[in-house]
Formats: sequence, C-alpha cells, structure tokens
Amino acid sequence: MADQTYDLVVIGAGPGGYVCAIRAAQLGMKVACVEKRATLGGTCLNVGCIPSKALLQASEKFEEASHGLAAFGVKVGNVELDLKAMMAHKDKVVDANVKGVEFLFKKNKVAWVKGAARLAGGGQVAVKAADGSEQRLSARNIVIATGSEVSALPSIRIDERRIVSSTGALALAEVPKTMVVIGGGYIGLEMASVWQRLGAKVTVVEFLDRILPGMDGEVSKHMQRILGKQGLEFRLATKVLGAEPTDPGVALTIEAAAGGKKEQLLVDVVLVAVGRRAFADGLGLKETGVATDDRGRIVTDAHFATNVQGIYAIGDVIAGPMLAHKAEDEGVAVAEILAGQKPHVNYDAIPGVVYTWPEVATVGKTEEQLKQDGVDYRIGKFPFSANGRARAMNMTEGFVKILADRKTDRVLGVHIIGPNAGDLIAELALGMEFGASAEDIARTCHAHPTLNETVKEAALAVDGRPIHM
Ligand code: FAD
Ligand code: NAD
Repeated sequence: MADQTYDLVVIGAGPGGYVCAIRAAQLGMKVACVEKRATLGGTCLNVGCIPSKALLQASEKFEEASHGLAAFGVKVGNVELDLKAMMAHKDKVVDANVKGVEFLFKKNKVAWVKGAARLAGGGQVAVKAADGSEQRLSARNIVIATGSEVSALPSIRIDERRIVSSTGALALAEVPKTMVVIGGGYIGLEMASVWQRLGAKVTVVEFLDRILPGMDGEVSKHMQRILGKQGLEFRLATKVLGAEPTDPGVALTIEAAAGGKKEQLLVDVVLVAVGRRAFADGLGLKETGVATDDRGRIVTDAHFATNVQGIYAIGDVIAGPMLAHKAEDEGVAVAEILAGQKPHVNYDAIPGVVYTWPEVATVGKTEEQLKQDGVDYRIGKFPFSANGRARAMNMTEGFVKILADRKTDRVLGVHIIGPNAGDLIAELALGMEFGASAEDIARTCHAHPTLNETVKEAALAVDGRPIHM
C-alpha cells in the first residue's frame, strides 16, 4: 500500500526536477519531489553551475585587483588572496540558492520527500531514507530527472584530493602550484581559469586537436589564443595513459593521441573533466522495462514520455546538451504536457555559455555544421575592439559572429567571444525563436554606448554594411 498518493512524483530536485515540480504545482497538481541529496537544487546548485560561477566571479575580482585596475588609474596596494574567504563566499551563494528552492517548494506546496527513489511498478515509487526506512508513494505520473555524474577515465582513480573531479576542484584547500586539467571543454576551461587566476600553472590536456569541440571552429581557435595569453598551456591531440598519486602530487603519463613517445608530467593536482554521463543507478529501470540507449540515457519521445505508460524523463538523464536551462525548459514543458497543454522546446535555439574571461556564448549552427548540411550562408563579424563601451571597459578581446542564410537572411547561428557574451546571446536566442533575419537585428535600435551594439554591427556586417568598421 502506498503511504501517499500524488498526481505527480518527480525523482531528482536538480534544475530539471525542481522546476518541473513547481510548474506542475502551479498548474494545480499535487506534487512530490524525491531527492537523495541532503539539499535541493541538484548538481547545478550544489556542485555545478552556481559554485563554479561564484569562484569564477571571485577569481576574476582577484585577477582584476592584481593586474587590471592600474590602467583605469586605480592604484591598489599589495593584493592578497584569502582562499578560505573565497570558498566561504562560494558556500554562502550555494546555501542561499538551495534554501531558495526549499522556500519555493513550501510556497508552491511541493512535498520534498527525502531519500533515494526506485520505480516500484504499478505507478509506485519506493523511497529509501538515509536511516534505511522505506515509504511508498503512489503517482498518476512519474518524471525522472536524476541528472548526470562525472565520467571517469578507466586508468585514473579520482580521490577528490589530488586527482579531482569538478566537485573536488571547487573545494581545493590550497592553490596548487601546478595543475593538469584533462579535457578542454566547459568544465576544463572554467576550472582551469579559476586556478590559473589564483596562481596555479595550469596545463590543459585535450584528446582532440582543438578545445571546445562542438563549438564553431573559429571560436575554438581564437579562444585558445586568448587563454594561452592569459597563461594556460595546452597540450592538444594528447591522450592520458594513467595518473598515479605520488608524494606529494600526481605522476601523469601522456602520449600523442596518434601514438608515440610517452611523457611524464609531475603535478600537484589533476582535474578529470572529460564529460558527464547520464545517471540512473538504483532507479530500477531494467525491472520496470524503461528503455535506455547505448549511453545509458533514458529514451523518450518528443513529449518526454518513456516507453512505459505514465513515466517521463527530462534533463541530463535524456539526450541533448547537458545544460541547466535545457533541463529547466524540459521540466516546464513536461508539466504543461501533463496538464493537457501543448508546449514546445526549440532545441535549435538553446544557448551555451562558457564563463571564462572573456566569455564564450553560442546559439544555433556552427559554420562547420552549415557546411556539412550544404546550407549557403553569409557571415557578419564585428570585433569588440571597435566598440566604444568595450574600449571604456578595457575589454576589447573577441567578436560577434552571425551566420545567416544567404537567400532568406534568417539567422542560423551566432557565436560570441567577449565581455558578457553570456548576456549578449539572449537577444540572439530570442531573435532566433521569432525567426529573425540579420536585417531585423540590424534595424533594431540598440542603446549607445553598450556592448550590444556589437551585435547590431555584426548583423549589419552580414550585408557588408557595418558603420563602425
Ligand atoms: P541534476 O542537476 O544532476 O539533478 C539530479 C538530481 O537527482 C540530483 O540532485 C541527484 O541527487 C538526484 N537523484 C539522482 N538519483 C536519484 C534517486 N534515485 N532518488 C532521488 N534523487 C535522485 N549548466 C549550465 O547550464 N550552466 C552552467 O554554468 C553549468 N555549470 C556547470 C558546472 C559544473 C562543475 C558542472 C558539473 C555542471 C555544470 N552545468 C552547467 C551542467 C548542469 O549542472 C546540468 O546540466 C544540470 O544540473 C542538469 O540538471 P538535471 O535536473 O537534469 O540533473
Ligand atoms: P565537455 O564535453 O564539455 O568536455 C570534455 C572534453 O574532454 C572534450 O573536449 C573532450 O574532447 C575531452 N576528452 C574526452 N576524453 C578525453 C581524454 N581521454 N583525454 C583528454 N581529453 C578528453 O565535458 P565537461 O567539461 O566535463 O562538462 C560536462 C558537461 O557539463 C558539459 O558538456 C556541459 O554540458 C556541462 N557544463 C556546462 C557548463 C556551462 O554551461 N558553462 C559548465 C560546466 C559544465
């Protein structure tokens, strides 16, 4: 017998699950959200987006105070790092965010059920609490939002001290003198930036011949140059054969991806950031018959339904980019579908942002994808070095690059490296949602002097008529 009956039981309280639970409650459903972690908010709020951005922001301040203020005529004395205080800032931000979700659950009358959930069949979810006790929830519908976990490398054992995942890299007790980051993707570049700014000599070892694979090739190349100037070292097309803890650091063995001479690097800390994998351990998918693909992701249809009646899945545990806002939008969509509405997630307009400095932001197709699809396109590019506001900010690195269909002028993709690129990309995502042409953006009045004028100028450049270049 079930202890409680709900319209909806959501498993996992990350950005996919908690947003889904709140939206369903707004729509009048009786909702429970089961979470095995002690706090709400999932990977994103506890050990992902939020703590990493808190450390990126704080380390940017340190970098600016150390090297960036004299040019503005601001003299500062000896700048010192207080890593404990910086970590306390991060913890405070995390705490405020996870408590914020708790508040929202109370406000929307979402029941937070603490424990690990398992599909028990027949519309039931079994929840095992930390003390071993078990309760059963009965649900008309179930949404699985169990997220993802760190992908490990078979030859490397993560101890979260010297050989760390992103979780350990967000909580190092001291600044390592030397650090190797395995993987030149989102986490690799963000965490390499944090520790490099705080004083570590950081080498990024990437298996492919470029960083940020999947992003526009020109952006990857340009960003590597910028980060190289900041002091990051890159070993591309290089594979890691193993990592052994030594006293006091780690001995890392690498060789060229194509094979060749082995090389050993001795460093204080190694960060493994080679991707994440869908997490559904202990859910009882096999027993319930919920289908997964060859990468362990739960298979869903366009309405987030699995092959089992009444069971849905969203977020990192299904296919698509592993991004918090993608999970959130799917959470809202599935709640609305369950309420009989007809929502839609547009996967062609999901922005991606790497919060390095300058930031990298992207939405839509890359040049490489357009070429592969045989689409004829025009490019409009405008550099931040020609933007008045960027000059005033002393932040002139990077550009806005707009790709538009040659015939229709419709915006197909936008790629930005530059100050606040993550904020600038929002107008482009909105434009793409509305099917904007480059001409539409070019004719929209942009306030002066703003960084957004770079977007307008890039849109003008699609038609070969930028004003300020
Ligand atoms: P998750 O956030 O992983 O949440 C799943 C939850 O389910 C977890 O709390 C887990 O404990 C719980 N759970 C799992 N199994 C069970 C079970 N059986 N019973 C009960 N509970 C269960 N994305 C961005 O968009 N922007 C960023 O800046 C960004 N930065 C990141 C930085 C780092 C270091 C990392 C690691 C990730 C980052 N991401 C970022 C990715 C983002 O965190 C994920 O895409 C997002 O959290 C996915 O949300 P989700 O709800 O699908 O899953
Ligand atoms: P990623 O997929 O972004 O990057 C992994 C990198 O590791 C790739 O460049 C890949 O080629 C490389 N790699 C894979 N195997 C390797 C090997 N054996 N040796 C060397 N390099 C190897 O993954 P991530 O950086 O671990 O982040 C995981 C996910 O979390 C991201 O895909 C992203 O969806 C999400 N995330 C997002 C943000 C953000 O939105 N700002 C920040 C952090 C994480």
